[in-house]
Amino acid sequence: MNKRPNRPAPGTNPKKIIGLIVIVLLVIAAAVMAVRVAKLVDLTRVEMSLTPTPQPVYGNVMVVTIDPNAPTPAPVIRHGAQGEDVKNLQSRLKTLGYYDGEVDGQFGGGTRSAVVLFQQQHGLQADGIVGEETRAVLFSAQAHPIVLTPTPAPTATPEVSSAIPGLTADGMPILVNREHHLPDGYRTVDLVNMYEYCDRDVVKIKGSGIEGERIAVDALMDMFRDAIAEGIGNWQVSAGWRSVSYQQKLFDNQVYEYMKNNDMSRKTAESATRKTVADPGSSEHHLGLAFDITVPGVSFKGTKQARWMAENCWEYGFILRYTEEKESITGFIAEPWHFRYVGVEHSLIMRDENLCLEEYLEKYGS
Ligand SMILES: [Zn+2]
Repeated sequence: MNKRPNRPAPGTNPKKIIGLIVIVLLVIAAAVMAVRVAKLVDLTRVEMSLTPTPQPVYGNVMVVTIDPNAPTPAPVIRHGAQGEDVKNLQSRLKTLGYYDGEVDGQFGGGTRSAVVLFQQQHGLQADGIVGEETRAVLFSAQAHPIVLTPTPAPTATPEVSSAIPGLTADGMPILVNREHHLPDGYRTVDLVNMYEYCDRDVVKIKGSGIEGERIAVDALMDMFRDAIAEGIGNWQVSAGWRSVSYQQKLFDNQVYEYMKNNDMSRKTAESATRKTVADPGSSEHHLGLAFDITVPGVSFKGTKQARWMAENCWEYGFILRYTEEKESITGFIAEPWHFRYVGVEHSLIMRDENLCLEEYLEKYGS
């Protein structure tokens, strides 16, 4: 038998392999160098923008000046960090009103929330990480104390019709939202207990204490009967009239949940809560004309009942109050289950012209 010399297969020549490895290493080294150079250039840019003398602030442009007392050197600190540097950070944030926890040198959720708030209020990237830029602003003369979003003062109280619930004296629907709280001394006209008043073969009432204005509850029942006649049943009302003090309780509970489960400061928890729970006084449920309509045991969004309501509620004087399309105007995330009674003379125009209540009053109100 012919013995073939023990040659490596083509392409596996050791010299070639070594050559390849060298080339790969060179490429990696070149890449690392490139990144370093880029970083240096960046650092230089940052340095150049940090001028030691105070500069005027033009409009929203923030000119950063370094406080010579700022702690140095300046490592990036983030959630989980601990030590003196974190203490300095906490103490500075506390002085400015962003942090209300203990100055304990532990960078936890509370410190992170405070950093995010500070960054938001100084036009910085709100990532909760204290890097070069955040640190520079934080310890500069440009760092300003926390600006609390003022609770919008209720605007001019409309004159309210005493006979027809939810209407002003000139017959327009009363607007209740974040900027327009329930008019002082607003009184419901004729609340009925829906658990006793409604035919519960037509609609399930989720709690024995749910109440609503008679005029709206009657319209609601007519609507459900017609829907059932069209083959759409299984209706439930899970919320109706709410007093201002009940709303306060809902609000407080949600704030507490956020503080406890998401490790938020009170201020952060309150602004998070405002995204989904109306401030006490600013909920339409105070009128006794708004109802949360659901299907027992399932999420309402996307159900055939939700589609039927979105299409037909207008004929009965109801409006689908918070839609995705109008989120920026209503200030509320879409709520496919929340319907407000305004009467057919208004609801049909709002449907036909595709106006949310804010837009409708802007166009037709006095
Ligand atoms: Zn609701």
